[in-house]
Amino acid sequence: MLTLGFTLNMSSSKHIIVIGSGFAGLSAACVLAKEGYKVTILEKNDQPGGRARLWEQDGFRFDMGPSWYWMPDVFENFFALFGKKTADYYQLKRLDPGYRIYYSQNEILDVPADMTQLEALFEQTEPGSSKALKEFLAQAEYKYKVGMGEYVFRPSHSITEFIDFNLIKKSFSIQLLTSMSSHVRKHFKNPKLVKLLEFPVLFLGATPQNTPAMYSMMNYADLSLGTWYPMGGMNEIVKAMVNMATELGVEIKLDTEVIKINVKDKQVDTIQTNKGAFTADMVIAGADYEHVDQHLIDAPNRNYTSKYWDSRTMSPSSLLFYIGTNKKVPGIQHHNLFFDEDFELHAKEIYTSPQWPTNPLFYVCCASKTDSTVALEVGENLFFLMPIAPGLNDDETIREKYFNLMMDRFTHITGQDIRDSIIVKRSYALNDFKADYHSFKGNAYGLANTLAQTAFFKPAMRAKHVDNLLYTGQLTVPGPGVPPAIISGQVVASEAVKILSK
Ligand SMILES: Cc1cc2nc3c(=O)[nH]c(=O)nc-3n(C[C@H](O)[C@H](O)[C@H](O)COP(=O)(O)OP(=O)(O)OC[C@H]3O[C@@H](n4cnc5c(N)ncnc54)[C@H](O)[C@@H]3O)c2cc1C
Repeated sequence: MLTLGFTLNMSSSKHIIVIGSGFAGLSAACVLAKEGYKVTILEKNDQPGGRARLWEQDGFRFDMGPSWYWMPDVFENFFALFGKKTADYYQLKRLDPGYRIYYSQNEILDVPADMTQLEALFEQTEPGSSKALKEFLAQAEYKYKVGMGEYVFRPSHSITEFIDFNLIKKSFSIQLLTSMSSHVRKHFKNPKLVKLLEFPVLFLGATPQNTPAMYSMMNYADLSLGTWYPMGGMNEIVKAMVNMATELGVEIKLDTEVIKINVKDKQVDTIQTNKGAFTADMVIAGADYEHVDQHLIDAPNRNYTSKYWDSRTMSPSSLLFYIGTNKKVPGIQHHNLFFDEDFELHAKEIYTSPQWPTNPLFYVCCASKTDSTVALEVGENLFFLMPIAPGLNDDETIREKYFNLMMDRFTHITGQDIRDSIIVKRSYALNDFKADYHSFKGNAYGLANTLAQTAFFKPAMRAKHVDNLLYTGQLTVPGPGVPPAIISGQVVASEAVKILSK
């Protein structure tokens, strides 16, 4: 892994304002506070964590966004920067099976944590495929190590950072120019295995055809590093980071919404909020990039035009239902993927001709299978997620239509209708993403990781016209997801230190 190149600056009294308390903002704040800066986070909502906030109702505790804990090394490395371990804050459990895929009513695949069992499962599904899996995962591991060691910690200001013979050579060997779709199909023929191996790409917000095969590193994260769960829920990570930030002296101001960033002579002059004006030596914008660039800053100081933003491929939004039941739901796992419909059609209706999907795939999380504290003792904590195109019209009628569609499919596939046992229900979709996070087009996970939007092709960390303004979070490098957001905060912190120590 690259070192972040910090200079020791313990006596600095410079003040840094971080906008937004998502993972990226919290990560940047912790690193900068440790470097000796005075750090204040301004957060519009009444709790920290951004998309990973909590919703509690009648004895149920729901993680509102992320539910998959992948790449545990990233979390461990982050806490190690402060001489801590994740175990100092939360207890991790490896899930076994990691998750279940429903291909149809009678075709179920549980993905085991154990590699020998996984190889046997592959062999049984497609003779000869266990050898292919070993090769595939060995390549994926190489890509993960190169990616995590040499790519993700680069601020990606320009292509010149990547002009290094060894790195170019590695770019070919990590298959930057092949698609995930052809890479997977080169190794496996069985459609179930193909779906299993293409699934992690959905986290990156693009189709397997449009995602570079470099991202098979996600298969290494999935199948080799495994799926974990922080007992108490994903929000425990937020609590851990908030505790650490507070211990380091970071001040977090909730219910404080930035409404304008005033710029004078290429410097942020004042930051106007609903609670008054702030000044700072440096501003790090961890709120949605498009919102800050297009709505908080005057036109001459923006990095991009509205045309630029409109031409971006956003990752999908989601229709979510948080559901509490007063009965147990036997026979399902913690993570359940309903892949019983055509992925191609759903992908087309997300990316190519955006519309509410005809026969969507969906995902059901039942965290109470692992953690009894998140639900009433008699019931279950369920979270239904259906990916949808960003920018669609959103209203109660359409949400309810898809609620019934998912319930019908759930009933058909699992053989149990849970509707009568629902005692808590809340929907969440595009309009909520916009209202709660100022999310561009109501996106859930930022910008899609297509080749044309990777590394230095992503919206830049540095403001082109403002010397003391930087961007972080899932719309800039390295990309969407909790681990990348944490890394984004680390990278932007090192950029801030470079600028402030000039
Ligand atoms: C439904 C869903 C499921 C997901 N599942 C997973 C998963 O299983 N695993 C995984 O790794 N990732 C997952 N992700 C992605 C992951 O949650 C995000 O990539 C990550 O949390 C983004 O962090 P961030 O800091 O970039 O942004 P955010 O979390 O959005 O933080 C930005 C913060 O800025 C604040 N803000 C916005 N405007 C202003 C303003 N004007 N003034 C002050 N504050 C402002 C917002 O309130 C917010 O708190 C999921 C996301 C969603 C939505």
